Amino acid sequence: MSELSGLQIFKYLPAAKKLAEGNCKKCGFPTCMAYALKLAKGQTEIELCPHLPEELKEIFTQSMKKPQKEVFLGHANKVLVGGENVLFRHDKTFINKTVIAIVLDTDENDFKEKLNRIVDFEITRISDTYKIDLIYLKGSNISSELTRKFDNLGFAWVVEDDLKEISMLEDKAVGDTVEELTKIRRKAILDKDENYSKPVAIYFEHGDNLLDLMAKASVYLCKYASMLIFEDFDEALISTLMTLRQNIYTDPQKPLQVESKVYEFNNPDENSLVFLTTNFALTYFAVANEIESLNKPAYLVVTPSDGMSVLTAWSAEKFTAQIAAKTVNNAKIADKIKNKQIIIPGLLAHMKEEIKEALPEFEIITGPNEAYLLNDFVKSLK
Ligand code: SF4
Repeated sequence: MSELSGLQIFKYLPAAKKLAEGNCKKCGFPTCMAYALKLAKGQTEIELCPHLPEELKEIFTQSMKKPQKEVFLGHANKVLVGGENVLFRHDKTFINKTVIAIVLDTDENDFKEKLNRIVDFEITRISDTYKIDLIYLKGSNISSELTRKFDNLGFAWVVEDDLKEISMLEDKAVGDTVEELTKIRRKAILDKDENYSKPVAIYFEHGDNLLDLMAKASVYLCKYASMLIFEDFDEALISTLMTLRQNIYTDPQKPLQVESKVYEFNNPDENSLVFLTTNFALTYFAVANEIESLNKPAYLVVTPSDGMSVLTAWSAEKFTAQIAAKTVNNAKIADKIKNKQIIIPGLLAHMKEEIKEALPEFEIITGPNEAYLLNDFVKSLK
């Protein structure tokens, strides 16, 4: 794909300049415009037009350069570092999340204890489970038995020599480090300057105050470290950074979503309440938190809606009575409860009859418009 649009490319071609060779068809396309449109989409080659001006060739050569190198690290298992091509997440999306690496020094006394903690570490945030991305092995006792263990457990590991394609930046005062990181990223993205194209790692040595470390690492994660390497391993620090990272490295063009299924709360039984909503993550968590705090057994049926909230899903036809009925029937909700009632979001009150038609054995009850009103709403139910 070119950075130029078809129209921008066309302006450089002979037909646009009204030259005699315009629309000569030598490129295999009937007109210069047709060729320009294909070129913009990356569906043909610049070499096919013998009349392409040098100026346009140069623009293409520049646009083919990768702003920041993408580097594979690890042996049997690998992680990707770098490869970013925008300065800000909202410009498009970030590509490869900041890699979090822990140093494991085989000569240190607490080596085995640290190894076990690294292997055991795991957190789940909005349906995604994270473990340590990369283990940086040091010391004189790196055995093939140890590396095989990491390979078999699915961990990526490196030694110092594997980091040649990474720029290591010293952690100085926060302001200075951020300034340096920003300068490097701007040079890479805006100028495509190859001297700055390596992904950048910050190395944190033993013994930093944990809160200072948290503050610094969070700032560098946002701007613009491709990798953070820690000599100390603190589960709380890493959990916090991974949660922050998840926020920054999700694609802003794709809404966060949870799995479409039936979620259970407070040990549901045949007298449980049944709620219905869509799989937009924020909607789900708002509703789920309220249901949990009701302290009543309940099911929450979450329909597939491409991560759209209730009204958006309805307007995009991602929430229909048929989709709702299919989800409820697949989950065999009718077999699980006695009272056969389903509470739908208040925002979908206009669909009550439609849903009733699709789920004739259920009574459809219109719930509140907002999740925080669920508690009062349930108290008012007969
Ligand atoms: Fe136009 Fe070049 Fe194709 Fe001829 S070869 S039609 S000048 S784009």
